[in-house]
Amino acid sequence: MTAVTTDRLIAPHGGALVDRTGEAPADLDSLEVVTLTSRELSDLDMIASGALSPLQGFMARADYERVVDEMHLASGLPWALPVCLAVDSAPTGGRVALADESGKLVAVLEVEETFEYDKEREAEQCFRTTEDAHPGVARLYAQKPLYLAGRVTVFERMQPEFPELARDPAETRRIFAERGWRRVVGFQTRNPIHRAHEYLTKVALETVDGLLVHPLVGETKSDDVPVDVRVDCYRKLLDGYYPDDRVLLSAFPAAMRYAGPREAVWHAICRKNYGCSHFIVGRDHAGVGDYYGTYDAQLIFDEFEPHELDIEPMFFEHTFWCKVCGSMASTKSCPHGPEDRVFLSGTKVREMLGNGDVPPVEFTRPEVAQVLIDAYRQ
Ligand SMILES: [Zn+2]
Repeated sequence: MTAVTTDRLIAPHGGALVDRTGEAPADLDSLEVVTLTSRELSDLDMIASGALSPLQGFMARADYERVVDEMHLASGLPWALPVCLAVDSAPTGGRVALADESGKLVAVLEVEETFEYDKEREAEQCFRTTEDAHPGVARLYAQKPLYLAGRVTVFERMQPEFPELARDPAETRRIFAERGWRRVVGFQTRNPIHRAHEYLTKVALETVDGLLVHPLVGETKSDDVPVDVRVDCYRKLLDGYYPDDRVLLSAFPAAMRYAGPREAVWHAICRKNYGCSHFIVGRDHAGVGDYYGTYDAQLIFDEFEPHELDIEPMFFEHTFWCKVCGSMASTKSCPHGPEDRVFLSGTKVREMLGNGDVPPVEFTRPEVAQVLIDAYRQ
């Protein structure tokens, strides 16, 4: 294979892709062990791959405080959410081994500092609520009381659930470059893609060179559609309705935080590292319950200076099939009323799928409906 330059793609956040993979040290077995939660483990793997560039490890206090207060790292670079490792006590040595929940050692952390943090303040700033009914806040409140900071070296990468969809930022960048794409739009999702979201991705794709469909495959709430079912839906949809040479399906290994607006910014920055120049932000991106206003995840981008993030957010309205227009549309592009729209509530859709009824083709592609019906029957 000839080398392809990725120079024409957007630069990674901070200028260079971080690579924190490496060899296990000879004295590994003598190190104190810190066990990571599944969220911390997915953060660790994303640090290793450069998906969280410029982070080289778990955040130190100066970065943490400024991110929580001002959505910037200590260096002044935008950053929206803490990436921290919670522990019970400060380690005694200068390095610790990091283990997954099964006890397997996966990385080494060079201890920079251990610091106290205020959970309620982090919740209020990052999640805009201190209620523990919010799944992200509940997880935060359940964390250990101190944060352990330091650069990591990962010698055992996570085993991806979908190896054929697991691509690090360096690999998506190489693929974009090979395909001659320069302007690439990223689409984050944690749901099956119905006609409304298919439409957003295609409207966005019309204006750029390529589309990265980048479903989140890390930890989600238990009532979200299971990831294997979703992946099956994405494959069916892409096979039937998108040109192969304009779209790439790949997995985004992050865990959901449900931090709404701040997570939208964080998702955008991560996709910039994967090589996306544009990022789709719909209504209530990464939201949960009614903690966030419909447009909060779009408005938050105004809190950054123009070009500070570099990646361009693309904002979309709620979309639907309009029977009069005879096409997908939104209130931005269609003058007709609600009575002319094909509208199905989430409850109604689940009821239909549960009964084995295929929703109208104006709402979802029949191939996608069939995957969901089969999943509901099991
Ligand atoms: Zn219309």
